[in-house]
Amino acid sequence: MHPSNHLEELLNVVDRLTRVHKSEVLVEDEGKEQRVTMLHDALIVQLRMAVHSSLGSTVQGAGLASERNVIDADALEHYEAIRGQAVKLFKEVTDAKPFASPESNLRHWYIEFKNQVNARKVSAEIMAAKLRKLNAMAYAIESKLSPPTALEITAPCPRCGATHGNDEQGVYRRAILVESRIVEYRSLDHTKARCIACSATWLHGRGMRQLRYEIDQSEELRHADNENAESIEQMFENCGTIEVRSISLPKIERH
Ligand SMILES: [Zn+2]
Repeated sequence: MHPSNHLEELLNVVDRLTRVHKSEVLVEDEGKEQRVTMLHDALIVQLRMAVHSSLGSTVQGAGLASERNVIDADALEHYEAIRGQAVKLFKEVTDAKPFASPESNLRHWYIEFKNQVNARKVSAEIMAAKLRKLNAMAYAIESKLSPPTALEITAPCPRCGATHGNDEQGVYRRAILVESRIVEYRSLDHTKARCIACSATWLHGRGMRQLRYEIDQSEELRHADNENAESIEQMFENCGTIEVRSISLPKIERH
């Protein structure tokens, strides 16, 4: 097969590494299976965030000590390896000075490499080797990060009031979906909540606490006598936690 036939596959993995991308997950809501779309940050961005995660900030022990930011040495080592590989690829195709971010280096590499492929300067063996390389980079990051899980929040969105909406695929579902790569039981690191109706987004532990606060505020407006602000832990218990049954391979959609 001519190497140019693999360009799309190559761009797919470059996109997963360097861009916000979507994947479909199957969730169960009151016994019914539903396919919903999740938006993920670029894998390299997720890895960079993992380096500076506040390890141990569990809901139960969200005191001062557990809020300290610590460097995750293992994630840092992974990140440095990825950064080095991106610079190496960049230098294979140009004499220009590498960019500061691995994302830029990889995207630039892809453009130059694609030109070489289209100019028929790349053998099938080289193409296969690059595909293996890029897939290995994505796999290394994905196995470092915990698999994503999805939770649906049953409370209406505190920003726009929507309880349900149509997602990007036109599937009708609850408005707020929380994507989490739970490292530790009920840890709120690597967590992102997003409303499909108004696109409001809440990130990580601070964002989840903010979301809880906003939901409480809007509930208090409706029930002026509601004085029992729920803890974040209760939010997880009361929000109709939905377990992700299976996660399909990310499908990239370009616009
Ligand atoms: Zn909203």
